[in-house]
Amino acid sequence: MSSLDRFAQAKLDDLARRNQYRRLTETLREHGIWVERGGKRLLSFSCNDYLNLTQHPAIKKAATAAIELYGVGSGASRLVTGNHPLYAELEARLAQVKQTEAAVVFGSGYLANAGIIPVLIGRRGLVLIDELAHACLFSGAQLSRGTVITFRHNDVAHAHALLREHRAAHDHALLVTDGVFSMDGDLAPLDALLTVANNFDAWLMTDDAHGLGVIGGGRGSSFAGNTHVPVPLQMGTLSKAIGAYGGYLCASAPVIDLIRNRARTLVYSTGLPPSAVAASIAALDLIEREPAYAALPVQKAKAFTRSAGLPEAQSPIVPVIIGAEEATLAASQMLADEGFLAAAIRPPTVAPGTARLRLTFTAQHSDDQIARLAGIVRDRILAH
Ligand SMILES: *Cc1c(COP(=O)(O)O)cnc(C)c1O
Repeated sequence: MSSLDRFAQAKLDDLARRNQYRRLTETLREHGIWVERGGKRLLSFSCNDYLNLTQHPAIKKAATAAIELYGVGSGASRLVTGNHPLYAELEARLAQVKQTEAAVVFGSGYLANAGIIPVLIGRRGLVLIDELAHACLFSGAQLSRGTVITFRHNDVAHAHALLREHRAAHDHALLVTDGVFSMDGDLAPLDALLTVANNFDAWLMTDDAHGLGVIGGGRGSSFAGNTHVPVPLQMGTLSKAIGAYGGYLCASAPVIDLIRNRARTLVYSTGLPPSAVAASIAALDLIEREPAYAALPVQKAKAFTRSAGLPEAQSPIVPVIIGAEEATLAASQMLADEGFLAAAIRPPTVAPGTARLRLTFTAQHSDDQIARLAGIVRDRILAH
């Protein structure tokens, strides 16, 4: 065995010992909420396809039409020849939804975060980030080469104290948080965070991957509860409720212009396939036309938490925290035997000792399906 393979095998053995080894499972997603795995049909409570738009006929049609018109791939970086005509329309629509001057679309949410943060923060800068923020925000923060400090989850007073202590030693500061936390489903206190950020001339950036399309009438977490918090940097993805692929940032015109010039993951990466951009536009159309439909995933999640005896859901994401990896895998398997797909989420995706089932609710889950899942979770998982 070469030293390279020995290295890989030792790492894999270590993961397996800790029940943290992961494998890719072939999954067929043919109809909205149903998946097929290993010949078995399961009702999925693990997709981020909150509005079931990945299979929506009108959206598939828009994607197919774009392929016919513009081809399959975009052929180059957007700054060379990859900037097909659909981009401008999508960016205008996103800016309108988020009520910002401008928007820019990236290849994915991960690429957006890896690209945006280093443009705004350099070696002498400060990134203050919620400890439970998404992995790709941490990647972007690390790439900035600035000082990265975490604040306790949703703890505004802690963020305030850290800014008071560290802000003066840095040229610029970015305060970074998920709008909806991807593994916990709770919302960030954006109003209070914006006030703190403004007090110290720090720039607030939200990652709204799980907000767009499902929170605040579909506009996202800065519009939750009929308020509008004017967050200056609103990032998100087109791969969850929107059902397609891609990432974006909504911000002021000069900020977006700077990002277009300087974000390495935009400049040095190929533009999205036209079909993904067309699908996103069609999805935004649908959400705008049908805000009642966009409200369904959160309503379904609330019905579940009521019935399972859990704290009320704030988003379509509901964690059922079990703790140990092995017990979480066993619970996931038990639910699979009952016909449900409920993925086990383990460290390092979540903190050690907080392995969980991460349940997601979508517009098309029926009340009966939710009640049956809630009964099993209540009686056979939480009762232990
Ligand atoms: C999924 C996710 C991303 C990454 O988006 P992709 O488009 O899938 O790369 C970023 N942030 C959060 C909070 C996410 O949940």
